[in-house]
Amino acid sequence: MNSFKFLTAPDVPAAIQLTDDQPLAAFIAGGTNLLDLWKYNLVNPTALIDISQLATLSALRELENGGFRLGAAVKNADTAYHPIIESRYPLLSKAILAGASAQIRNMASNGGNLLQRTRCYYFYDHQVPCNKRVPGSGCPAREGYNRMHAILGASEACIAVFPSDMCVALAALEARINVTGIDGERSLAFSDFHRLPGERPELDNNLKPGELITSIDLPEKGFPLNYSYLKLRDRHSYAFALVSVATALEMDGHTIKEARIALGGVAHKPWRSLEAEEFLRGKTACRENFAAAADIILEGAVGLEYNRFKIKLAKNAIIRNGMMALDPDAQLPGAQPSL
Ligand code: SF4
Repeated sequence: MNSFKFLTAPDVPAAIQLTDDQPLAAFIAGGTNLLDLWKYNLVNPTALIDISQLATLSALRELENGGFRLGAAVKNADTAYHPIIESRYPLLSKAILAGASAQIRNMASNGGNLLQRTRCYYFYDHQVPCNKRVPGSGCPAREGYNRMHAILGASEACIAVFPSDMCVALAALEARINVTGIDGERSLAFSDFHRLPGERPELDNNLKPGELITSIDLPEKGFPLNYSYLKLRDRHSYAFALVSVATALEMDGHTIKEARIALGGVAHKPWRSLEAEEFLRGKTACRENFAAAADIILEGAVGLEYNRFKIKLAKNAIIRNGMMALDPDAQLPGAQPSL
């Protein structure tokens, strides 16, 4: 039996201080991924620090700069169904609701969503090596069954993908992540939070030891008129994406004023190509231009034995989702997208 302490703190500074006393402690909010990892013996904290009741982490509120703050301990479901998220950031609402199951979304926290770990099956299997679990031990996925693995940004050391849906929308919206640690507070651009595997696949993100995500800030611009989240997976619910695409457009008639396209299920972090987004600026929103943008996004994509199909799947998903973003009403239940 693993014995551990269960600790609470009255506020964030006190919670941070507890990590100084308990270096092998873990913060827990919803616990939906942490407890899985624990059961698979991938983590073994000596203490859990409960942050689920901290008031400053539990609010959804407007910001003076016109943006909107998501408390790190707020549940995914409460975020997705909040009226401001539904009306001003519907891309985020749709992406959250594409993830996991209703029960998990009712429990999982916003901060925890960012911190979930890969679902690479070799990572969970202690009978085989895995560079993410035991650095330097090898990566059996490269020569193994790599159907769900990365086509972009992978390294010799690791080809795992990041499984979140919510984070794909947050990448497209250019959210910021606020964190607090023993050295104080800092704010990271969303693109700087998660890491590519490189030579250090054991590191999923750029949090420092003991740092706590306190909130996620959405900028004022939420692209409420032209957006779409498309998730392609093996079954219709409760499955991770083979490929997902978050598309947000600002339109002037048929012309794209601004485009954001982020991909999930293809890399160790949500994937964006600023070059492709710049290409679309000033262009007509049509299949041909989305196809050309897809070619830019997927330049350098590498397929392995079982995941090659993802390159074409991703291209088709980018085109289809671009067209769907022109008519978000077509995504309502029962409606057909006009392609
Ligand atoms: Fe481990 Fe990454 Fe290889 Fe999966 S892809 S076995 S997580 S090193």
